[in-house]
Amino acid sequence: MSAPLNDLMMNYPLTLTHFFERSRRLFAKKTIATRVPGRPLFRYTYADFAERTMRLAGLLRELGIKKGDRVATLAWNSHRHLEVYWAAPLSGAVLHTLNFRLSAQDLTYIINHAEDSVIFADASVYPMLAAIRDKIPTVKQIVCMKDTVDAAVPDGLPEYEALLARAAPLDRWPQLDETDALGMCYTSGTTGHPKGVVYTHRGIFLHCMAQAAADTMALSENDVILHVVPMFHANAWCVPYGGVMTGATQIFAGPNIQPKDICEIVQAEKVSFVGAVPTVWIAIKELVEKDGFDISSIRCIPIGGSAAPRSLIEAFDKKFNATMMHAWGMTEMSPIGTLARLKSYMRDWAEDDQYAVRAKQGYAVAGVDLRIVNDEGVEQPWDGKSMGEIQVRGPWVLKSYYNNAAAADRFTGDGWFRTGDVAVIDPDGYIQITDRTKDLIKSGGEWISSIDVESMIMGHPKVLEAAVIAVPHPKWVERPLACVVPKPGVTVEAAEIVDFLRDKLARWALPDEVVFIDAVPKTSVGKFDKKVLRERFKNWQPKS
Ligand code: AMP
Repeated sequence: MSAPLNDLMMNYPLTLTHFFERSRRLFAKKTIATRVPGRPLFRYTYADFAERTMRLAGLLRELGIKKGDRVATLAWNSHRHLEVYWAAPLSGAVLHTLNFRLSAQDLTYIINHAEDSVIFADASVYPMLAAIRDKIPTVKQIVCMKDTVDAAVPDGLPEYEALLARAAPLDRWPQLDETDALGMCYTSGTTGHPKGVVYTHRGIFLHCMAQAAADTMALSENDVILHVVPMFHANAWCVPYGGVMTGATQIFAGPNIQPKDICEIVQAEKVSFVGAVPTVWIAIKELVEKDGFDISSIRCIPIGGSAAPRSLIEAFDKKFNATMMHAWGMTEMSPIGTLARLKSYMRDWAEDDQYAVRAKQGYAVAGVDLRIVNDEGVEQPWDGKSMGEIQVRGPWVLKSYYNNAAAADRFTGDGWFRTGDVAVIDPDGYIQITDRTKDLIKSGGEWISSIDVESMIMGHPKVLEAAVIAVPHPKWVERPLACVVPKPGVTVEAAEIVDFLRDKLARWALPDEVVFIDAVPKTSVGKFDKKVLRERFKNWQPKS
């Protein structure tokens, strides 16, 4: 009998501990920085980062954080946030990034559902927690991080730097398993509560490797990254993990970054890699055109979260010499799924055809399996015409939502995740999103549940029916338009509807405009047929 052949390679766990330790030794001299409003960038080295992260891990132990405990953040992008990003999962805890743009109701739900133990909160967003402090009983400690130089520490909270200065560093990381939970993010649903996605070390490890692949984003030690995507949005698209893995120079946006700050930092620091949602780039385009910043150091702008207009991609190439790369993904996919890179044989295609390809959402990155399936469950051909829901699977795609049996219908019997995005795939494998089965509006990168808004409107005593749809918007990409049917014989003003919603919704989720219609169109089974309304208002010109 011959000797066994299989399984003769090491079963080395794919945990982020490896990246951290490697980076600590190899890139000690490299820089990490944070924008501090009104001051020069705060800068320190990877060696400082590593030393402070080990001390933070010591602090977490002193705070009683054990394996699997949830360590949350409610914070802007900063080097402190990066320290929590690494110290929590490497000590065996689970990083939970909270979105401070959510309503108090959703934030309370999420903290309780995740059972967060400790929250590291920036002083400027802490008031959101203060308002719900008595409704989040699992939270034993809130640590305040000063996000501006003159920030006051509220409510006698312990302050991050003071705690860190006193903490004894952890001397060695615990041995982790690659399937251990690393972090979690909640994502908005059409109905019901936000759903938790839990990332594993293995998934994020492989995702980082994929981000560094030449045919993906080629993230490398040479890059100067500016982190604009909020660190609560799908782990800032995983770039703070990939950034440390590669040893890239990293600059964090700090509180409330504006397009002008972005342009100034890009120009001064020769930023080469900066991702953001289309809304941010639309504003930057106007500014660069007006004020003439030089942003040509940028070699890659991953743009996604919503569809990037072709005109934007073209303008950044031709006017600013900065390459945009249209990408598609989701919180549930860590987040990368596809990327619109031209293939070598397309380089001599006509310019128009090349831009047509780059305006699509791209083809699947290595590691992601993708198919489109129609309403009858039949897989559709890649002919650029047949439409279907995108279904995906892969090592960084979620297998199940956290503690949420009701969301089981998002997975197929044969092991695929149903994304809720509808697309066609061309014969070259490039997907083009054409619709969404999930009834959500994405405005400036933030979700609005149209179902939530319309059911609130239908709670108005003068309203019979209401449907809320997304209409195109030049700045926010999409905005909600409320289509309202008043009760018979009743008159109601648009302002009355908006005022009625004001204390129920986050400010940016309020519809800017209300149109009155005779009836909401219905499908054969009596459901609201929003396709008809979307078609009717597709050329809607927003007033603001
Ligand atoms: P999130 O989990 O909040 O990042 O949202 C993911 C969703 O955003 C996807 O399921 C899509 O509906 C949408 N999305 C992301 N990237 C794109 C893109 N490039 N084009 C169109 N929609 C996108």
